Amino acid sequence: MLGETLPPWLLPAWSSLLAKAEAGTLAHAYIVDGARGLGKLAFARRLAATLSCLEPTAQGGCGHCKSCALNASDTHPDVMLLAPKEPGKGLTIDLIRSLGDYAQRSSHAGGARVAVLAEAHTMNINAANALLKTLEEPQQATYLFLVTDQPGLLSPTIRSRCQKISIPRPNESDALAWLQHAATEGIDKQRALECLKAAGGGPLFALELMEGDTLTLRARVDDAFAEVLSGRAQPEDLLAALSALEPIHAAEQLLSAASAQAKRLLLANQDSSESEAAEARAVQAGRVLKLAEECELARRQLASTSNPNPRLVLESLSWLTSRALRQGA
Ligand SMILES: [Zn+2]
Repeated sequence: MLGETLPPWLLPAWSSLLAKAEAGTLAHAYIVDGARGLGKLAFARRLAATLSCLEPTAQGGCGHCKSCALNASDTHPDVMLLAPKEPGKGLTIDLIRSLGDYAQRSSHAGGARVAVLAEAHTMNINAANALLKTLEEPQQATYLFLVTDQPGLLSPTIRSRCQKISIPRPNESDALAWLQHAATEGIDKQRALECLKAAGGGPLFALELMEGDTLTLRARVDDAFAEVLSGRAQPEDLLAALSALEPIHAAEQLLSAASAQAKRLLLANQDSSESEAAEARAVQAGRVLKLAEECELARRQLASTSNPNPRLVLESLSWLTSRALRQGA
């Protein structure tokens, strides 16, 4: 995804971490934070491959040792990637527990062991507590990279036990140069700038918006809806996903995501006997249905000749989604 040469905005973090690795002063755990679409996950994975390589170079893994071969097929027993299995679910305690077991084992290939946690902020309190245990008993040559675009959602205890590496947003010309290089076909500068803006300045996210087909873009709205509704992402994230579609299609997709969510909540109640949980779900379903009504209203507004400002309409829907399940909403 990042290409052979690392993009310029990742270079300072890369050099600093590699210098520490060489000097033997790498910390056991890092939070890699920064806006969405900067390539943080790919960066952390490349770092993991480099740290586990038996003869690393300044660019990354050597590419021909046993470790590099295992990394190339994503089957390295000492390199672990933990990512949420479904949008809205987050990093579960089971995933984090598997990390605890892994940290206790000894290295297979004889090199460093590295675990990368994607979307680390999606851990719930139980998962975070399980992770704390691992963080409190650091093992020799074992490194953790917690990748997140919402570091504020990580618990303060976790933050206090990790070093921080912040990835900056590139300036416009670096971002455009990267897009030019990464796009499969030539780019239209105006469109690239629009996508970059919708993506909040993250070039990889902008590339997805530029090249994504409608189905992917619609699925992205569904994912962002689940994340924002559950409080795991900010309204801006949903707005970015919505902005990639025609406004009317964006409102339609949001309506479909909200209706599906309300239906799931009501269906869960059909085969549940816990009355308290069922009651809570019924309240939630009611709120999500209200949100769906707002989406329908917005869809009609956008289709009408009254000519509303589409961005304001989508902004308001994103905000409503982020508030829908909050207390007193
Ligand atoms: Zn190697």
